Amino acid sequence: MGCSSFDNVITNPMSTTAQPSPDRGLKTRIQPLSAFSDNYIWLISNGETAVVVDPGDAVPVLDALDRFNLRLTAILLTHHHPDHVGGVQRLVDASGATVYGPATENLPVCDTAMKGGARFEDSALGIDLTVIDVPGHTAGHIAYAGSVGGTPAVFCGDTLFAAGCGRVFEGTPGQMTKSLSALAVLPPETRVFCAHEYTLSNMRWAREVEPANTELQQWQAEAIRQRDQGEPTVPSRIGQELACNPFMRTAVPSVVKSASQWAQRKLDTPVEVFAALREWKNSFR
Ligand code: ZN
Ligand code: FE
Repeated sequence: MGCSSFDNVITNPMSTTAQPSPDRGLKTRIQPLSAFSDNYIWLISNGETAVVVDPGDAVPVLDALDRFNLRLTAILLTHHHPDHVGGVQRLVDASGATVYGPATENLPVCDTAMKGGARFEDSALGIDLTVIDVPGHTAGHIAYAGSVGGTPAVFCGDTLFAAGCGRVFEGTPGQMTKSLSALAVLPPETRVFCAHEYTLSNMRWAREVEPANTELQQWQAEAIRQRDQGEPTVPSRIGQELACNPFMRTAVPSVVKSASQWAQRKLDTPVEVFAALREWKNSFR
C-alpha cells in the first residue's frame, strides 16, 4: 500500500496532520489509538513506517499497523506504569522495533536508556525529539519534546494533561512543579500529546479554581462539543495550558488566592500552591 491509498484509508477525525517530512515527501501523521477506558497511544506514521508512544496494549497498535500497512520501527516510553508499557513485549516480538525508555525505571524491555538531553531522531518520519526529565508522577518519568513533521510537539505521558496533571505517586510536589515548569517554557504552539482523556473532569475542577477565566470557559465548551461527537480533546497546546491549566498557573494571583482559600492558609510559594491544588484535585468529585 503506497502513500496515496494511506491518505484515503484514514478517515479518522482523530488524526492530526502535520507538515510533510522533508526527505521523503511523505506526510507525517500523529494519531491517537484508544486503549483501555481512557488511554491514548500515539502513533506517528507516514504511510510506510511508524513509531508509537506508550503502548499500554499491543492490540490497537497491531490493528493500526495492519490496517494502514505500516512497519513499526521504534517504541518510545515515558514511564513504567502498565497502562503505558503493557503492550511493549508483544510489539517487539511482532515487529523487532527498538525500544527507548526512561533510564532509571524498570521496564519490560528497553534497548536504549534515555535521560534528559538524549535525542530521538527519525528522518523518514520527520521526528526530532529531545528528552526532558520530568520526575513526579513516577521517579524517572521522561517527556519527548521537539518537532514532528515540522511542527512542535511534546509527548508527556502522565505528567501534563489538558487542564490537569498526573498524580504525584513517586516524586515530590517540588519535583512535579519543576517538571511542569520545564514543559511551560516550550514554544506556546507546541502540541501536547498526553496519554489520557481526562480533559472534561480536569476542566470541571479548573472552573472551580478559576471561575472567571474566560479562555478556560471557551475551551471547556469546545471540549464538551468534541466529546459529544466522540472526538478526542487532545492534543492541546502549551499556550492553552499556560492560560487555563491551574497546575501551570501556580504563580497567578487568582490561582494562589483560590488555592489558599481551599487550604485555609496563606500559600507562599509555587510549590505550596501546587501541593494544595494537587490535594484539592485528588479530593474533587
Ligand atoms: Zn502513569
Ligand atoms: Fe497512565
